[in-house]
Amino acid sequence: MSGHTFSPIGRRDFLKGTLIAAGALALPAMPGCAASGKKIPGFDFEGSFLLAHANLVDVISGQVLENAWLLVDDGKITARGTGESAPRAGHVLDMKGHYLVPGLIDAHCHSTASPIFSMRVSDTLRNARQIKRNFELAVESGVTTIRDMGAFSGLLHHFIRNIEKGEMSGPRVTTCNAILNVMGGHPEIPPTDMNLFAKPASVFIGMIMNNFRDTAEMEECLEDNARGASFIKLSLDDKTLFCKKDKTIPVYSKDQLDRVFRFAEKKDLPVSGHIHFKYGFDRAMAYPFNSVEHMVSDVVLSDAEVTIMADRKLAIVPTMTIGQSFLVEEAYDTLPEQFRSPETLQELSARADYFSHNAAQHCDPVLHEQNLRAMSWFRSIGRDNLWPKKKFLMNPDIYFNMIQNGYVNLRKMKEAGVLIGCGIDAGMPFNYFGGNFREYEIFKRVGFSNIDILRCATLNNARILKMDDRIGSLDAGKYADIVVYEQNPLEDIRVMRSPALVIKEGRPMFASKVLNPGGPVGIAQLAASRLEA
Ligand SMILES: [Zn+2]
Repeated sequence: MSGHTFSPIGRRDFLKGTLIAAGALALPAMPGCAASGKKIPGFDFEGSFLLAHANLVDVISGQVLENAWLLVDDGKITARGTGESAPRAGHVLDMKGHYLVPGLIDAHCHSTASPIFSMRVSDTLRNARQIKRNFELAVESGVTTIRDMGAFSGLLHHFIRNIEKGEMSGPRVTTCNAILNVMGGHPEIPPTDMNLFAKPASVFIGMIMNNFRDTAEMEECLEDNARGASFIKLSLDDKTLFCKKDKTIPVYSKDQLDRVFRFAEKKDLPVSGHIHFKYGFDRAMAYPFNSVEHMVSDVVLSDAEVTIMADRKLAIVPTMTIGQSFLVEEAYDTLPEQFRSPETLQELSARADYFSHNAAQHCDPVLHEQNLRAMSWFRSIGRDNLWPKKKFLMNPDIYFNMIQNGYVNLRKMKEAGVLIGCGIDAGMPFNYFGGNFREYEIFKRVGFSNIDILRCATLNNARILKMDDRIGSLDAGKYADIVVYEQNPLEDIRVMRSPALVIKEGRPMFASKVLNPGGPVGIAQLAASRLEA
């Protein structure tokens, strides 16, 4: 380890640190966090405009409509068609040669978390900037709507207000607020573990976890947490994710789950369950859950089980990227034979590629470097010593299994017709905002077609968010959330790595450098031209 004052601390401290950083972020006029109000050349008008001569990817039919047009008015798509039938509009953007897809949806992320394993007080502002950057990174990667799966709710609603007012760049946000949690359940961080510095901050930024000790407290938490929430999130597993001897963690009683679902029904809120293991999956199947999050890692599910899952309309957001991120080869002297499969080897290579080429664009390089260093603890400290020494690292065995069994499970779910969504648990260490393409490319390696991947990221996610009447496809009546690519994502899924232009509710949110004057030709033709009425 190098000579500088790196003092590694664990996941619990990571959450503490996130809380501190988030608190600092909520302070007014913090340096380095000015509201972003980018003007995009050639797109400096509001209201009504026509996108003409486009290749429009219709995610419902799976077809590319050539020479298509979309009319946008007041943030919504008001008409679409092909050929020369386009209506007149005040402004026309020529999309010749470009591909239009619906605004992408990220169905599993933690937007107010700083993605680190360890926190140094000297990095407080760095972490605060990273949290704000999470929102911009989402938009820059084509994501116009997110489903936040556990947030510092006070802080998140502060950001939501700023985004809605146009004072900050960011996607549309749906949230469960905090994660409702049995004391000691996943992710195993008791509120008593908050340090003095963090506690006052929590008063105005909220808590990422709502831990309860008994059923009466659970009902209070439920009521409290439902304010401004669009769904409820529970943790269902009975086992820890950490390197620790005691593998069991407390779970909801049957009576408590019954009460959660009575509440959810009364408030008309969908319920989502975090699962990594068969135990959690079975619990989700026994109650009217709407979705499960992550992937069953410990077994290959039977055909009958996935058929029942499809019949029950239990959706999944598999977040396979977390499996890839935590394939910590560095944890073993030599990688055990049982973890050497074609699937894990190709994901290990994708992981190495992401870490060395893209990660530092998505995460402050200093923070990413610290995350990488934390991987050396497995061997320098020893796996069995991590927990006693308060180094809370995830057990990589689970994630090798998640890739190996998860590939098979995901394929089976797809074949059985389970509704499959898409997200990467962004906000967690190594799973950085902006990296959603990693999940698309894993789906490709699992065997999904490009149109199916695009459906997962748009229409399927919209259904999981119960917003498919407003988002998820480029149809009249829906929000004008549009991502423009320079090539066809149905021919090469890697095209989705770099959008040329991102429009949210009729407003340009991001344009790649090629749109700027002086840049290469191509989308520069996009510059608005006024038609004589
Ligand atoms: Zn999560």
